[in-house]
Amino acid sequence: VADYLKAAGFTVERVAVADDIADKDLSAGYPPLSYDGRTCVAARVTGHAGGRSMHLSGHVDVVPAEREDRWTTGPWAGAIRDGRIYGRGAGDMKGGLAAYLIAAAAFLEVVGQPAGDLLFSSVIEEECTGNGMKAVLAAGYEADATLIGEPSGLQLQHAGVGVVWARLTARSSGAHPAFSSGSSVTRSMLAAVHALEDLEAVLNAHGTDRFFHEAFEQPYRLNVGAIHGGAWPSSEPVEMIARVRLGFGRDLSPATAQRLIASRLAEVAPDVDVDFEGFRADAYVDDLDHPLAAAVIEAHETIHGTVPSRRVLAGTTDARSVKGPCLCYGPSAGSIHGVDEWVDLASAHAVARCVALVLGRWQAPVGTVENG
Ligand SMILES: [Zn+2]
Repeated sequence: VADYLKAAGFTVERVAVADDIADKDLSAGYPPLSYDGRTCVAARVTGHAGGRSMHLSGHVDVVPAEREDRWTTGPWAGAIRDGRIYGRGAGDMKGGLAAYLIAAAAFLEVVGQPAGDLLFSSVIEEECTGNGMKAVLAAGYEADATLIGEPSGLQLQHAGVGVVWARLTARSSGAHPAFSSGSSVTRSMLAAVHALEDLEAVLNAHGTDRFFHEAFEQPYRLNVGAIHGGAWPSSEPVEMIARVRLGFGRDLSPATAQRLIASRLAEVAPDVDVDFEGFRADAYVDDLDHPLAAAVIEAHETIHGTVPSRRVLAGTTDARSVKGPCLCYGPSAGSIHGVDEWVDLASAHAVARCVALVLGRWQAPVGTVENG
């Protein structure tokens, strides 16, 4: 990515995430123990005429593939079939990132130096903390408008729910069931999960932020993403760990969501410890009432002849961390986070065209551009 941006004319730097980011910013995620030298790539072309600035962004991190043997061609093959690229991260979101890189390079090739600053970032950690984008923004990559190439299916994605992660841990001394005291790590963990399912039902039934209910019947999902523990059918697990994710609306802060989780568990499964890790993400809604939305709608209409529909996500994106206008607009993708994830190539091509058009309209001094 850095090489591509350099060749396109960008000044490129590496942006590291501060290890203490979660102490200073209460909406930052809890970072891993070490970033191990992993950095974001951030790049800039300085505008020459005081035009409006634009930040194009995407994330390069991907979720694990779990059972690689269940993929038709393997998660890392990047196989092309029937107009799609299949692979982990093809849809979420290397396809959109690639489209944005091509759009930026094409735009610079045509205009030379833009009127306003053009910023580009390829960030880490979108899938677990959002700290990559936060670090890039703190390093001076705020712009008049930001576009993120998340796989929105050529729709204007402008909202996402809040998300927190929790790690539940239950422990025992690991007795043979014939000699155990009757307590069960597994039963405690199941009770804890059921308590969180009850909390999920309460949030979906009684949450006061009705915006997300207009898009989804059940916008706030609990996901038990991993359960580990135990070694033998005739031994009680010495330790069982469940890693969960819970969504919520703008009526809760991440800290309040964490408190609700902790108090439910204290009531129903007091022998299950809870720690918080990864996301502490606020729900967000962009009202689309700004020139960026108008520019994307106009460019999309030029290419497709129709106005793009609006899209709300029952998940989160890095858009929540951007202060000014920020939208997600990217290709069509499927099986996101799942087996045989894919991105549609024609839609990625259309995204590149659309974003290049947006850049043309956005950056040029008013009245100097006809038809992009
Ligand atoms: Zn993504």
